[in-house]
Amino acid sequence: MRPNSSSSASPVTRLWQRASARPRRTVVLCFAAVFAITLVLAGRQYFLVRARELDLRAHRLELQVMALDAAIHAGKRQMRFLRGSAENQFAELRSTGGAPDAAVRNVLAARANTFWGMPVPDSDAPVRGIGRRELAAIPQLNPSEDAFVQDLGVARLMSQLLPVEHNLMAELEVALFISTTGIVVANPPIQDAQMAGLLGAFGDARMLRLAREQANDHAVLFDPSHVRNVGSARLLLVTPVVHGGVVRGAIVLGVPQRVFQQFLQSRARYEGKEALLDGRGALIASSESTFAVSEGDWLKTLPGRWGHVSSPMLLQAGTGRERSGQDFLLFRKLDTADLVLVDYVPAEVLFLSVVSQFSVNFIGVWLLLGILLWSTLLVVDQLLARQIRLSDALRELVRVDALTGLSNRRGLAVGFDGFTQRRQIDRRVALLMLDIDRFKLINDGWGHAAGDEVLKHLATVAKAAVRPRDLVARVGGEEFCVLLPDTVPEDAAEIAERVRLAIAGSVCMPDPTLLRIGAPGREIRYTVSIGVAELVADACDSLDALAAAADQRLYAAKEQGRNRVVAHG
Ligand code: GH3
Ligand code: MG
Ligand code: MG
Repeated sequence: MRPNSSSSASPVTRLWQRASARPRRTVVLCFAAVFAITLVLAGRQYFLVRARELDLRAHRLELQVMALDAAIHAGKRQMRFLRGSAENQFAELRSTGGAPDAAVRNVLAARANTFWGMPVPDSDAPVRGIGRRELAAIPQLNPSEDAFVQDLGVARLMSQLLPVEHNLMAELEVALFISTTGIVVANPPIQDAQMAGLLGAFGDARMLRLAREQANDHAVLFDPSHVRNVGSARLLLVTPVVHGGVVRGAIVLGVPQRVFQQFLQSRARYEGKEALLDGRGALIASSESTFAVSEGDWLKTLPGRWGHVSSPMLLQAGTGRERSGQDFLLFRKLDTADLVLVDYVPAEVLFLSVVSQFSVNFIGVWLLLGILLWSTLLVVDQLLARQIRLSDALRELVRVDALTGLSNRRGLAVGFDGFTQRRQIDRRVALLMLDIDRFKLINDGWGHAAGDEVLKHLATVAKAAVRPRDLVARVGGEEFCVLLPDTVPEDAAEIAERVRLAIAGSVCMPDPTLLRIGAPGREIRYTVSIGVAELVADACDSLDALAAAADQRLYAAKEQGRNRVVAHG
């Protein structure tokens, strides 16, 4: 069976009724909804453009990492070539064997000195080294004479090959072969003191350890300090030279930091910070115009809320984006090295770059729309307010009698509803029905205009005679009602008597101009007859019933000779 929908209003109808009951609120709500929708659409657009912007930046980061990888890969290939040559040379020296030549013998003799050098052609890189005593002071290095002679053979080959690397790799700053027996082949040449420092550093720590760890590969490390005396910071590519399963030395290619710095700067088309970091978070290069070597973790220079991000964590993740509030950190690890390139995009930078992508027209239209919407709301609201004021005034007018200013029949009904609705139980509401006695005679004697003055006079006198909360109304030509809330019949009769006496004791003196020619004088004295009824006592359930009961008693009062009150009982 289908539900019977005609008996109760549909939800839509009910909603419409509620909306039209409070039109101003409805209009404001509707406009607020339009505003909200507009804002949501604008926000959506903003976030779409922002997502695209972040994707673009991630893509750019990827391209940059590819370029860096390509550069490191080229260096790595060269190193592999040098390493292969060195390792072959070891094998060859072993197979040919034989006694050392004169040059080697000279070097062996010179090893008694702090530094020694082997004569090579001018076009080759110098072959140099530290003496036996100095070598013995560095525990990690190898003092063996046999190994030294072999290493010297390899060093002579490297002396020829390293200068060639400079022709092949434009960005190369320094190329080195270092042996564990204290030989250094450097292109361009380095000073004795630098060589000692280099071998010390090689022996004591990272390079040799790295060379051992990377026995089958290479390492890329940022070295801002180890070759401190040789120009500025640089990125070092290190590969070991292994013979017979033992690390015999290392080949080191150094690319100056400035090359990476310029690379990042030249591509910093957007605002934001790009930084190339190593596994400890040390800054290798950035997109900023200046660079200073800093030992600490670059990520720690970001605002505090980025505390959870570390370089090892980014290297582990490889590629992605981190978010903190509205700030973003895009990152991508290099394939060829344990280096990560990050793009730090603070919220304000992102916001500005997104907003700058909206055209001026678009923003203008958006603003105009907002202004139009707002002014329309103001106008509509004012119109509605005036409309409501007018209809309130109209409603008031409809309830008021124009001659006396009292409530009319409609006003009486509204007053009655007000009294009775507030009191559901035991509502005592009494009604006085007044009628001027022989009013026709007043009209006839003093004229119609004077009769009107009498009606106004009665209104004033009656209102003054009753309580403030009682409602006096004019319900007919010369018929009036007084509605008395919370009044039992006895009290109502008393009030009626008071009203009757007040009227009988007063005199109406209309303006002489209003009097009919031949009027019997200026003073008009008149009386009223009053019928009294009460809801409970007369068992009435409506205003009409109450009025009918009061009217009946009014009629009785007229019958009994007028100028009197007739009440219940
Ligand atoms: P009764 O004592 O029986 O009530 O006598 P009455 O003359 O008052 O009775 P009736 O109802 O016959 O007359 C009412 C008169 O009131 C008739 C009408 O001309 C007059 N009247 C009604 N409305 C107005 C008005 O607005 N102004 C004036 N001046 N007279 C009115
Ligand atoms: Mg009458
Ligand atoms: Mg009358």
